[in-house]
Order: sequence, then C-alpha cells, then structure tokens
Amino acid sequence: MERVFNFSAGPSALPEPVMKKAQNEMTNYVGTGLSVMEMSHRSKEFIAIKEAAENSLRELLAVPDNYKILFIQGGATLQFGMVPLNLLNKTNQADYTLTGLWAKKAIKEASRYGKISVVASSEDKNFSYLPMLDSSTFNPEADYFHITTNNTIYGTQYRNLPDTGKVPLVADMSSDILSKKIDVSRFGLIFAGAQKNIGPAGVAVVIIREDLAGNAMEFTPAMLNYKNYIEHFSMFNTPPTYSIYMCKLVLDWLKDQGGVEAIEQKNNEKAKILYDYLDESALFKGTAASTDRSLMNVPFVTNGPETDELFIKSATNAGLVNLKGHRTVGGMRASIYNAIPIEGVKKLVDFMKQFELDNK
Ligand SMILES: *Cc1c(COP(=O)(O)O)cnc(C)c1O
Repeated sequence: MERVFNFSAGPSALPEPVMKKAQNEMTNYVGTGLSVMEMSHRSKEFIAIKEAAENSLRELLAVPDNYKILFIQGGATLQFGMVPLNLLNKTNQADYTLTGLWAKKAIKEASRYGKISVVASSEDKNFSYLPMLDSSTFNPEADYFHITTNNTIYGTQYRNLPDTGKVPLVADMSSDILSKKIDVSRFGLIFAGAQKNIGPAGVAVVIIREDLAGNAMEFTPAMLNYKNYIEHFSMFNTPPTYSIYMCKLVLDWLKDQGGVEAIEQKNNEKAKILYDYLDESALFKGTAASTDRSLMNVPFVTNGPETDELFIKSATNAGLVNLKGHRTVGGMRASIYNAIPIEGVKKLVDFMKQFELDNK
C-alpha cells in the first residue's frame, strides 16, 4: 500500500521528509557509526540533539528567557499529576475549566492533592462548546488556573485566553501547540504530549516559568519534580532519546516551513476548506459550536451511524484513514495537525462531496 493521508488524533501523522531523514540516519547518525537509539544520552552528539530541539522550540514559540523547556516522559497524562504536585504550594487551591475528557482527567488527578474548583463546564452538552469564562468567578487565591486550549475529542479551541491576573495560567496544549502563534508570557506553565503536533509518543514538552519550580509537595517523587528536570537539563535519568531526536527533526521541518506564523496560515486555510464544506453540505455536519471550532480536530457526522460507518469504510479504502470519531462523540473526526498537507484536506473534501452525491 502507498502512504495514506492519516487523520489520526494521536499518535498522528508526521511530516514525510522528517521520516525520510530519520530513515537515512537510522543506522549511522552523521558518521558516528551508531543509531541515535544506541547512543549514550551523555554523548556530545545526543546532547547537541537535545539542545537543538530545545533551541528550536524556544525560537519557534519565542519562549522568554525566564522559562525553562523540559522533556519529560509519561505523556500529557503524567502532567495532570505533576502540575498539582509542584504548583499547589501556597493555598492548595486551583481553578479548572471542564471542557472535555482530558480536562476531566486532569481535575480528577489534581483533586487528590488539593481543593479544586471547576469554574466553567460544558459537560451539559457533551463538551460540544466552550463555556463562558467569567473572571469574577475565579479564585484570586488559587495557586494556578488550568485550561485545555484545544479539546482534541470534541473539536473546540479557545481563541481568547482568560485573564487570571496574578494567578498563573497552566495550559494543556497537547493538540494545538505550535499550530499558531502564542504569547508564552501569558502562561505560567504549558505542557503538551508530543504525539499530536511535535513528534512521536514517548515524551511531553513542558514550558515552565522558572519561579514556579522548586516548591513541590514534600512527598513528590524525585522523577515528578520539575526542579530535578531543570537542574539536570531534562536528564535526571535516561530521557526518551529517540523521541527527542524525532521532535528535533519535526521542529527543524517546521522552521523550514517558515515557522509558526506560516504554519498558522496554512492551518487556517486547511480548516476553512473543511468547515466551509461542512456548512454547505446536506449530508455532513460539524458537531462543535461554530464559534468555538478547532483548527486542529474537526468532528462531524452524517445522517446516522450506518452512513457514518459506510463513509469511514469507503474513505479508508480511498487512502483517507483514521477518520473514526472518538467513542464518546461517534461519527467522524478529521485531525488536521501541522503535518497534514493541504492536499490531504482537499482530497478528503473531494471524497466527501462524491460520497454525498452517491448517497443522496
Ligand atoms: C492526547 C491528549 C492528552 C493525553 O496525552 P497522553 O500523552 O496520552 O498522556 C491530554 N490532553 C490532551 C488535550 C490531549 O489531546
């Protein structure tokens, strides 16, 4: 089979040039005679890879100097626990927005360590919209305020950030990091599992304002303390070396594409093609509130589960794969992360148009 267009929500499509490059360097990394997989994480070659990844990320997101960039195993889910363990250190209180399954899991985990308030929720309509955020309901004493910037399963994405005043804003940016320009200085901490927009699974990126580390709860395991990652430059123990190497290649690729601003424009274009069609189609329709639509994950349905199933099957046969929606939403979901080229989205929409004609 030829390579397909992969609309998977995660682990998701990687840029083909990145994989070709990794393939070329697989058994012999720049004349070392070794694969990156076989190298000491203390070798100068690997340290250079890690530093290059970090520097690229700093450049791409214009990360200010008083923020540290960390690579940590355990995915975004581990951050659901690490954040409260490290940041609940003054009043032991935090505010959360409940906008999806991932937010729910984050709340559940944080609730084991402190007093968590849900300041806004869209659970009443299966998370198909973003609840209004009213800063007068925020706890000014909270140790932090947690938000999921893009809700991967439901296809909603914040356009504006809440004003949390002095309370550090913590963002789960797993599925929209690097997809658009952000002002890192608005955040206390950003985390993202790599496997949506940065690289393969196996590592999460954490961007943390320096002053927020160093006051973890007494019983915090060493491996869950940001301070140890900062002091040991993300090498407190053996890091996921190959995943970090792949992230480096993806970040290099993103710079070659013109950086975040250029990819943001492409992402806008891609999403517009798909949403414009969903809005005019008599068969397909988007499931997220139109004002809150995500540029990364686009859930949609047809007139019923049987047609959905037929669509998913025929699309797969046409080389458009992993379009099945999350089990809690049903229908379809097209994840159109950075690595999905515009041709992939055009091909999908052309296919949907034909399917609509054939299934009148
Ligand atoms: C995928 C995802 C997660 C979970 O990531 P893991 O790396 O599997 O732990 C958390 N939050 C969001 C928003 C996600 O999209």
